[in-house]
Amino acid sequence: MIPPAFDYLTPQSLSEVIGLLHQHGPDAKVLAGGHSLIPAMRLRFAEPCHLIEISGLEDLSCIREADGLLRIGAMTREADLEDSEIVQTGYPILLDTAKMIADPQVRNLAPVGATSRTVILPMTIPPPCPPCGQVEITGQGGKRIVPIDEFFPDFFTTVLDHGEILTEIQIPAPPPNSGGAYLKIECKVGDDAGAAGAAQVSWDEDAEPTLQAVLQTHVSYVAFIGSKKQARALKEYLQQEGIPGKRLDALYAPAGLDLHAKSPGEIAVSVLAEIVQLQAQLS
Ligand SMILES: Cc1cc2nc3c(=O)[nH]c(=O)nc-3n(C[C@H](O)[C@H](O)[C@H](O)COP(=O)(O)OP(=O)(O)OC[C@H]3O[C@@H](n4cnc5c(N)ncnc54)[C@H](O)[C@@H]3O)c2cc1C
Repeated sequence: MIPPAFDYLTPQSLSEVIGLLHQHGPDAKVLAGGHSLIPAMRLRFAEPCHLIEISGLEDLSCIREADGLLRIGAMTREADLEDSEIVQTGYPILLDTAKMIADPQVRNLAPVGATSRTVILPMTIPPPCPPCGQVEITGQGGKRIVPIDEFFPDFFTTVLDHGEILTEIQIPAPPPNSGGAYLKIECKVGDDAGAAGAAQVSWDEDAEPTLQAVLQTHVSYVAFIGSKKQARALKEYLQQEGIPGKRLDALYAPAGLDLHAKSPGEIAVSVLAEIVQLQAQLS
């Protein structure tokens, strides 16, 4: 189907975009890569009278680190994440994820900040480490920061008010001595995830603060590798720190099925076996 007629506006600055959104009210929508909005318009699910092109906003296309945060401009192409040296060297989960979004054609055009789908941010950026990231939103009243967890209150819904756009995604740098991976299982390239998982591993002399922070997220399996005595002391500490019992259930300490594992490889197998067992129990 052919979409209904619309005005096509090409502002050159963020303030112009915000001004146009304010001027045209709910009849206006911003256009990023167009992969989602144009098909929605063709199907008449969306009928904006004014399309405001934001792909020319160079200032919103950058990947940089500042104040302990990785800052990704909303118009940064998904493919730019893969090519970024900062992401390649410091954010392994994000790098893995970037390679699994859609297909290269979509990634070359779609910016990270396009917010058409409930799943886009969690899928694009799983929490790399505690605490999860946050997004910067800009509107007529200035900028505000919202935790990523709260950005999508419901399916196909964001907390963006009319006249606001998402301008930056901010992710805390992973702690030192840590690593991570993300895996998405899809039937064919470009499919939504049949299943997806992210794992973050930290090697820390002082593990308590890290675990405390992870347990404040929604992560459902948090593994602590250490002796039974250390695990007992850890649980007591976390209880004293006020971590609710329900969240403590997500802590597996010591992690892994008791396979008398000794070498790192054997311990990894015991942890995986525990995850498989939990999955089986859930299904
Ligand atoms: C075949 C296919 C497969 C895909 N697979 C995946 C996948 O595996 N994982 C995944 O995460 N995503 C996937 N996507 C989604 C894709 O990564 C993009 O996020 C999506 O297409 C939106 O980007 P766009 O540039 O097309 O946005 P557009 O279609 O231009 O815009 C989408 C909506 O977001 C709004 N919008 C855009 N930018 C902003 C902004 N800065 N602030 C506020 N609102 C904004 C627009 O007004 C519009 O309502 C897939 C898309 C396609 C077409």
